Amino acid sequence: MQGLMMDTELQISSILRHADRNFGDREIVSVTADNPLHRYTYADCFRRTRQLANALGNLGLAAGDRIATMAWNDYRHLEAYYAIAGSGFVCHTINPRLFPEQIVFIINHAEDRWIMVDLLIVPLLEKIADQISGVEGFIILTDEQHMPETTLKNAISYESFIGDESDEFDWPVFDERSASALCYTSGTTGDPKGVLYDHRSTVLHAYAGAMADTMALSSKDCVLPVVPLFHVNAWGVPYSTLMTGCKLVFPGPKMGDGETLYQLMEQEEVSLALGVPTVWLALLQYAESVGKKLNKLQRTVIGGAAVPESMIREFRDKHDVVVMQGWGMTEMSPLGTIGTLKYGMESLTPDEEVSIRAKAGRGIFGVEMRIVDDEGKELPWDGVAYGSLQVRGPWICSDYFKLDGAGGAHTDDGWFDTGDVAIIDQLGYMSITDRTKDVIKSGGEWIGSIEIENTVMGHDSVAEAAVIGVAHPKWTERPLLIIIKAEGAQLERDEILGWLEGKIAKWWIPDDVVFVEEIPHTATGKIRKIELRKQFADYQLPS
Ligand code: ADP
Repeated sequence: MQGLMMDTELQISSILRHADRNFGDREIVSVTADNPLHRYTYADCFRRTRQLANALGNLGLAAGDRIATMAWNDYRHLEAYYAIAGSGFVCHTINPRLFPEQIVFIINHAEDRWIMVDLLIVPLLEKIADQISGVEGFIILTDEQHMPETTLKNAISYESFIGDESDEFDWPVFDERSASALCYTSGTTGDPKGVLYDHRSTVLHAYAGAMADTMALSSKDCVLPVVPLFHVNAWGVPYSTLMTGCKLVFPGPKMGDGETLYQLMEQEEVSLALGVPTVWLALLQYAESVGKKLNKLQRTVIGGAAVPESMIREFRDKHDVVVMQGWGMTEMSPLGTIGTLKYGMESLTPDEEVSIRAKAGRGIFGVEMRIVDDEGKELPWDGVAYGSLQVRGPWICSDYFKLDGAGGAHTDDGWFDTGDVAIIDQLGYMSITDRTKDVIKSGGEWIGSIEIENTVMGHDSVAEAAVIGVAHPKWTERPLLIIIKAEGAQLERDEILGWLEGKIAKWWIPDDVVFVEEIPHTATGKIRKIELRKQFADYQLPS
């Protein structure tokens, strides 16, 4: 027997309509290339979003056509998110930090018809314009007054594009499984692969992100997403926050600037900020150097890479800020786990609490997890066994865009193989020990490079650390520790190796240490291990 409930499509435009009705006077504050501090309300935002939807309707596009955005976090980018998806087109967010050849590849692969581009990113597109000739025109995210001289074809300022349009628009109703957004993985191996989100997955993911044991969003919050709108839906923040009526603060092109972030947090009374560990390093360094405390911030979600314990302690001890570590990936929309505490954890000592928060977090309803061994046999959640981490659920990709099953990441029984190696403890908290391809194989056993890096990052004289496997005649591979010293710090090989004793398994202690000025990163701020492995391919470990 079927139930008797309404069959309402879960659509992104329904979030906007709800927010408009209930929180019309809530503020959105942005730093942009053409305005140091722009302020308006949800109601203003949605009026302009409807104008943009009308303007897009004049372009002769068909449902499902891709319109790309290449922009920093600000109000116009948010309007683009909602107008494109709400109209039935696909919002293809492009990471401007990718290599130009990757950008060319993904624009052509996605068959983007128009691109909305930030003022500051125009020169980057001009350089590759002749290789993306399928793009019909460019909307520059600025007003007429700030319009640059540009060689981009059919270039128009955003404000002129929407200016004369009506602000009445009836959001079309369509199948909730229609594609809404597209984001490519940064492709550390091979070409980038497209992950195609839909309305249903996005709405369900937004609910999950807002829950009390996830980000605990409420209309009383003021949220600063430093995680970029150009990568993985900014962790779903543009949807979860509007669903719940949070005030939003966007840092625009100032994402990596500790001073601007600090000022925005204080002045706008930001209660929750989200970003990758590197961004928070910049913020904490700024606060330390000028002797300031974060007075307003209450909590922060940090993910995208492992969060060093030292960062969790610094946020707590110096700023009274709670760190919630998250784990996920482009293929997962991205939320998979989040490190909030469980019932019965009220009486943990501060150190015990840090060790829980240093894990990648526990599963969110909607994401099933399992760890398996090389034969695909499921491993126990005992805090000891480690294996390939696999997931399934309604916001996890079932295939890559236009690859027709050739992506190679899905198992025969319908799980997605994340490419991460993980341990899950009895309470369900998961820790990433490595990426499958970065694992160090020493004498038939695996050494988790991430765990060593996290420990090393706790040393005061270390600014950044990476651990890679280097060929060894007896053990196949042994770990090499690569370190950037903190500014002005003195540190010797034997000192750091001695310091590691007792903190990690004896046989995990690296065989050697090299000090460098720079460690290569991917466009999303992760250490480029492939590059490091190449760089140190012929490294001779001391015998
Ligand atoms: P990319 O941008 O490199 O294409 P994603 O942004 O999708 O990829 O990154 C996903 C990967 O980032 C995960 O598979 C995992 O390896 C890493 N990652 C994310 N969060 C964490 C975390 N909390 N701890 C350790 N690794 C993490």
